[in-house]
Amino acid sequence: MSYIIELKRIEAVIMTKKRRSRGRSKGGKGRGALVQCSMCGALVPRDKAKKETRWVSLVDPTLSRELRARGAYIPGQRVLKYYCVSCAVHRGIVKVRERELRRTAY
Ligand SMILES: [Zn+2]
Repeated sequence: MSYIIELKRIEAVIMTKKRRSRGRSKGGKGRGALVQCSMCGALVPRDKAKKETRWVSLVDPTLSRELRARGAYIPGQRVLKYYCVSCAVHRGIVKVRERELRRTAY
């Protein structure tokens, strides 16, 4: 009996933990908000999703270059996108990393 308990304790100690953050930036807090992946539409926790901020111009690039040459200021539009982990890997935002490198956060 005590042998089994001891075995379970050892199992608990060496339980697999791939990442220091467990793939999230949640910490000790409980359940958080969900966001929708911009690619596949999956609902993922916001602290797990990969966030990408892009500045896009609404003006045509050739036109904006011409306008900038004449001294015009063209403000960019901020586009915020959330990706689930598999879509982030697919898009190359995050990469599959080897065991030691996984310990450090992005
Ligand atoms: Zn996705």
